[in-house]
Amino acid sequence: MKQGDSIDCPLCGKNSFLKKVPVLDGWTKKGDILACAACSGKIADLPPVGLAGNTGVQKGKSVSALESLLGEKHSATPRIEAAEDEKSFCRDCKSYIVHPFMNRCGRHNKDVNPMSDCPDFIKK
Ligand SMILES: [Zn+2]
Repeated sequence: MKQGDSIDCPLCGKNSFLKKVPVLDGWTKKGDILACAACSGKIADLPPVGLAGNTGVQKGKSVSALESLLGEKHSATPRIEAAEDEKSFCRDCKSYIVHPFMNRCGRHNKDVNPMSDCPDFIKK
């Protein structure tokens, strides 16, 4: 029994043919069924093909479907660039003085944490 086979549908009684219908659970494709083209009634389950490989493909598909829906691909790049700009850590600052026992800020003349950020950050 496969897609395109002609059948006498036990559900609607018409002479019809089989069509493949995907079964979706949210964004995840769970598999396919064979359904009557006339009444869309389920005639048979289609066995899943290569379960392990299939799962990966389906995940990729559902992710890209979500991405295109939410426009993720367009907004992802600017968001990363913004994060780069926010890296005003003291360790990258011109005023940061590395000392064997402490880290000092030459501008504020105080001990600082290498990973703290400063409003007077000057890139080295
Ligand atoms: Zn039918």
